[in-house]
Amino acid sequence: MDGQTIVAPVVISPRPAPQHIARPAPVVGPPLGMLAELTHRCPLQCGYCSNPINLLKANREVDTAGWLSILEQAADLGILQIHLSGGEPTLRSDLEQFVALLARKGVYTNLITAGTVLTRDRLFALRDMGLDHLQLSIQSVRADLSDKIGNIKGGLAKKLALAGWVKESGLPLTLNAPVHRHNIMDTGAVIDLALELGADRVEIANVQYYGWAAVNKAALMPEWAQVLEQKAVVEEARERLKGILNIDFVTPDYYAKYPKPCMGGWATDVLNVTPEGKVLPCHAAESLTGINFENATQTPLADIWYKSESFNRYRGYDWMTDLCNSCDRVDNCFGGCRCQAMALTGAAENADPACIKSPHHHLMAEITGGYAGEQAPPFVYRRITAQN
Ligand code: SF4
Ligand code: SF4
Repeated sequence: MDGQTIVAPVVISPRPAPQHIARPAPVVGPPLGMLAELTHRCPLQCGYCSNPINLLKANREVDTAGWLSILEQAADLGILQIHLSGGEPTLRSDLEQFVALLARKGVYTNLITAGTVLTRDRLFALRDMGLDHLQLSIQSVRADLSDKIGNIKGGLAKKLALAGWVKESGLPLTLNAPVHRHNIMDTGAVIDLALELGADRVEIANVQYYGWAAVNKAALMPEWAQVLEQKAVVEEARERLKGILNIDFVTPDYYAKYPKPCMGGWATDVLNVTPEGKVLPCHAAESLTGINFENATQTPLADIWYKSESFNRYRGYDWMTDLCNSCDRVDNCFGGCRCQAMALTGAAENADPACIKSPHHHLMAEITGGYAGEQAPPFVYRRITAQN
């Protein structure tokens, strides 16, 4: 040797593959909340509607006695809060019976409405029967854009009138604003409107791409610069309006680093009942193939919640890939959204591709990148209305 120091070659070992961690089985308690989709009929035809594309016609909806039984079972199961939703739930002439039953059973009721058909008299009657809260959706703060998004004439004026009656009635009011590339620039104006109307809460709800929203993804997907601007507007308003207005906001999945804890984890806290009585762990779960979701008109709700194969399939950790099972964030996000994992990766067991650790994460960037700078195509409006 000629005096040189011999340096051992550096071996860069590949990152160790994640190991499956044995974890205890989940302890299943009663659900806390339920979304009762009373109907899929609606006077509006929003292009971002998350209702399924094969919308249910009125003649297949659960009848009055059927819904009364489901709601009573829900109360007996220990559910604390029921969101009466749709479609447009006020198209059901039996809504009063549902509110009265739930009030008797001590369940908190929230009516989720687009606000174009509910009259002042009916609102006050619902309040007197025990309705606890009303959530009003708005398509835009601008009348012409509101009409275009919902494919309806004069929608905004009716919504503003309803908001005034809600305040007059003494009911708490939440304003829900589904946001996409056509209205994202008005996020600050939505917050101002919520203040002006005396709302207690405003939800800046970035559109989720299920149902009709998936059909209209190219028309709806915002650009990255718009999302950054929106985030700054919301952060400033949250600081300024602390203690005055609650602002709910989550960065849209397509631009986030990690997925949201979809529904707080599959079948953990909430359930969803469709207009025909199918019971789902989330409103989009019917997009998953190979799962048989049971019907509350045929199987007791408690059996579906505690014992059904569909509700137990993605509870706990055993179903996860090792990537999620061994991840230190698993109890924050529970692997994200099963529907998004299936839609983009072909397997519901995979990590939600919204996660930067997912080997499929590039699919999210490809989708958003594909729309940047493009002229948005026209909406494909949902085809079910108030009549059918
Ligand atoms: S069409 Fe619009 S208002 Fe009607 S249920 Fe769908 S999103 Fe809601
Ligand atoms: S790897 Fe899985 S558990 Fe971890 S953050 Fe990503 S999606 Fe969530």
